[in-house]
Amino acid sequence: MSDFAKTKALFHLPKDVIYLDGNSLGPLPKKATDKVANMMQSEWGEMLIGAWNEAKWMDLSKSVGNRIARLIGAEENHLIMGDTLSIKVYQALASALEINDERKIILSDTGNFPSDLYMAQGLVKTLKQDYQLKLVEPHEVLENLSTDIAVLLLTEVDYRTGGKHNMVELTQKARGMGIITVWDLAHSAGAIEVDLMAANVDFAVGCTYKYLNGGPGSPAFIYVAPRFSQIAQPALSGWLGHDAPFDFDLDYRAANGIDRMRVGTPPVIALKCLESALDIWEQVSMADVRAKSIELSSLFIEEVRRRCPTLTLVSPEDPALRGSQVSFKFDHGYAAIRALIDRKVIGDFRAPNIMRFGITPLYIDETDIISAAKMIGKVINNKLWDRDEYHQRANVT
Ligand SMILES: *Cc1c(COP(=O)(O)O)cnc(C)c1O
Repeated sequence: MSDFAKTKALFHLPKDVIYLDGNSLGPLPKKATDKVANMMQSEWGEMLIGAWNEAKWMDLSKSVGNRIARLIGAEENHLIMGDTLSIKVYQALASALEINDERKIILSDTGNFPSDLYMAQGLVKTLKQDYQLKLVEPHEVLENLSTDIAVLLLTEVDYRTGGKHNMVELTQKARGMGIITVWDLAHSAGAIEVDLMAANVDFAVGCTYKYLNGGPGSPAFIYVAPRFSQIAQPALSGWLGHDAPFDFDLDYRAANGIDRMRVGTPPVIALKCLESALDIWEQVSMADVRAKSIELSSLFIEEVRRRCPTLTLVSPEDPALRGSQVSFKFDHGYAAIRALIDRKVIGDFRAPNIMRFGITPLYIDETDIISAAKMIGKVINNKLWDRDEYHQRANVT
């Protein structure tokens, strides 16, 4: 059994803050500060360049990747860390298109995160040759699968509504039609149960600074199913994805398996920081996290609705169709979120009118949920959001 009171004590949360934004940036694991400081002193400070071998810095992308693989049901040694999620989307999509090069259509949906779509648009522009990105509404994806589609590029959980695709069903149907699947797990890894092997997913990518609590700018991951790991050609053929980087050959030759998805020098400090978060993840089971997340989300919906009939739930009612966030629609959503943040209840806002709250059992409990709902009731029912300063948009919302 996972002990969530114990995991909560392992995070630093500012005094009196109720943090419902772990879907955007997870909080600081307390042990990360010393771990990173010690590593900087004893490894970077003392070993200097020798640390690449002595402190195994070069192995970190793979060893940390294997720890993430266990959370999402991926085979060992088929997942690697590095770069940002946008870059990993590009890599996965480019390789998938090359494998299926008889076909030219990428299918995605309007619920996908814009960066994923922008990366696809950029790639289509580079490739030319009639490649196109086709977008449909999230609920229309299944019926739009057809044998002329090369790649199905989807984010499992919608960043605005929290609506969850049926990854197993979509992947199975796509596979039957010869479509390669690329799943973005940005709002799945550490949020819901994922079993990449059972679902037969071809490529998957995700970030580690949201639910996984790896820290701002912590590296992304990419997974390539074993059946494609020696076939997938890296579009971003950097030296560390070469078969023998230190031979300094003039010609590129892809490394064995997932190592070919490395690009350049790994972000060692960020990987060490991420390890502190993974130490916490190893104390819980994803089944328990999911069960608790559903319990807390249902309680939150009930408590907010009861107090604020003017807010409209935009997340699916059925927990099975939801990720680990709850979103409400409200015309003055931006100002309301600002007013809440001023009162130490932290959620966020997504245009045009969505108030978003991440539900993260590792450090959020029933008491937090009830206190947050009470504060939301106070802010909405007393129009506490209606102040000039709350209407000015900041750079990051
Ligand atoms: C958060 C998120 C991103 C962000 O990409 P970065 O390159 O890490 O900034 C991309 N795609 C999805 C689906 C996301 O949720």
